[in-house]
Amino acid sequence: MRKRTAQVYAAGSQGAPSDDPLSHRVLSGVDPAMAPRKRIFIFLLLVLCLVLLVLAFLLWYVPYVGLSAIHPSMPVVLAVVLGAVVCFILGGALTLVFTIIRGKNLFFNRRIRGAVIRFLFPLLVVLGKCFRIGKDEIRRSFVAINNQLVLAECGRVRPQKLLILLPHCLQFHECAVRITVDVARCKRCGKCRIKDLVELAERHGVSMSVATGGTLARRIVVEKKPDLIIGVACERDLTSGIQDSYPIPVFGIFNRRPNGPCFDTDVDIAMVEQGVKRFLAGRADGTA
Ligand code: SF4
Repeated sequence: MRKRTAQVYAAGSQGAPSDDPLSHRVLSGVDPAMAPRKRIFIFLLLVLCLVLLVLAFLLWYVPYVGLSAIHPSMPVVLAVVLGAVVCFILGGALTLVFTIIRGKNLFFNRRIRGAVIRFLFPLLVVLGKCFRIGKDEIRRSFVAINNQLVLAECGRVRPQKLLILLPHCLQFHECAVRITVDVARCKRCGKCRIKDLVELAERHGVSMSVATGGTLARRIVVEKKPDLIIGVACERDLTSGIQDSYPIPVFGIFNRRPNGPCFDTDVDIAMVEQGVKRFLAGRADGTA
């Protein structure tokens, strides 16, 4: 069994100083060492567009001869219909790429986020396999893109409507306090990051919960009805959390796993605080 000596965490001792402007690190939700490559997502998206173009051409070309036998104008009608579908998909893809690159809000940003979460991500995972791109790498890229869309979409959030959702593995493995019932029960001994996170939530007046898994996380979200969630988790849980919570926007921050997965994990407090400040202020620099 893995055993670890309890270490006392100092608030803000890791990562960027808390007065940093909202940096690329926070936009991505990860440490530089785990930096997601948004270009992976964009590359796969462009490959998908190419595949769709080829498919649309084949769909038009294969029945071309048969259709003209039915009516001479049928191939033209089919070409117009397929062309409209391709233009719609290409338009959506280009708008998404524009939003990712510029970070600007667009009037149908929320719909784009929905399309990315529901349709694009599963397709890009399949496509990524063809290029031998790891699932976690695509998930990191997906979370970074999602974060960018959430930042572009969301303005100011009231403190009581902002929920910080944490994984249970952040708690020190020998701690007997049941923080899943109420995180404020934490005795603040400082053996894990929960102490700093509780103090952070109190400082900003936002609500915070700890979930042991997807089912409890979903129940917390249903009960608390937040306008925005700042979620801390691994690649897999963040991805499924973002998908499950839609249309509620989830700003994802990856946890650190110095002791391996799901065991005494850690998170960059400065990064969480910068995210909270950004959404409470509604501005990128986190100032009121
Ligand atoms: S959850 Fe609270 S009481 Fe338990 S180890 Fe962490 S800081 Fe200490």
